Amino acid sequence: MLSVTLLGTGNPLPDAHRAGAATLVHIGAKHFVVDSGRGVCMRLAAAGTLPINLDGVFLTHLHSDHICDLNDLITTHWIMSRAPTLLSIFGPVGTRGVVDAAMAMLGPDMSYRLAHHADLTWEPQLEIREIAPGVVFNDDGVRVQAAMSDHRPVEPTLAYRFEHEDTACVVAGDTLPCQGLDELCTDADLYIQTVLREDLVRLVPMQRFIDTIDYHSTIEQAAKTAARARVGTLVLTHQIPTPAPGSEEEWVAIARRHFSGAIVFGADLTEVTASI
Ligand SMILES: [Zn+2]
Ligand SMILES: [Zn+2]
Repeated sequence: MLSVTLLGTGNPLPDAHRAGAATLVHIGAKHFVVDSGRGVCMRLAAAGTLPINLDGVFLTHLHSDHICDLNDLITTHWIMSRAPTLLSIFGPVGTRGVVDAAMAMLGPDMSYRLAHHADLTWEPQLEIREIAPGVVFNDDGVRVQAAMSDHRPVEPTLAYRFEHEDTACVVAGDTLPCQGLDELCTDADLYIQTVLREDLVRLVPMQRFIDTIDYHSTIEQAAKTAARARVGTLVLTHQIPTPAPGSEEEWVAIARRHFSGAIVFGADLTEVTASI
């Protein structure tokens, strides 16, 4: 069993129809979330699961659009637990500081709930794992491997490969093509990549927006990574700029010039299943 649900396909600019960066990976008997951007708990519910059902949260990097609702995941996981229940959070170096700060922000809320509910006698139970490239999870037939990605000056950043039996998917965050990503993607069934359309971004006369080109994969670059690594399906997410309604086929057509496999243009709650 390997299915991926795009919980949020938006970029940092608020959009009525696109939540922030977050992807649900259902593999074997496990449920993981990669990143926890704007609206992650709402979209998890829409996908039929809840924070308490997660076996781990993986963060690709600490940009706000990828972590801004991590505090909501932590709180919701905690208040729905019937007994002390661990929430494992995996991320690059720096994750511990971010989570500690989120916990400090949640301090008043935790004190109110602990004072109010006699049966709630524990604080959120978190396991924070700042990880290096390599195998970072191996349990119940599910293996997760991390590799360095390239989103400089944001450092360090990670991409993740989830494996179960003969299936594999890679969830890359914001990154340029790089060797670590190529290796991670090799022969994967699904490759989920945040993408940018350089032709459209260059039309916006704002340097801060044009700056985004130099640390995201363009559609062409994502498609070339997919082709080099011989993945089965390329999934386009976190589109920059926000695609105009009806333009989806244009995005797919650009990728098609460089990749002959399946291409999925992601909207929120798009589900992609690996065929075995
Ligand atoms: Zn981003
Ligand atoms: Zn980023």
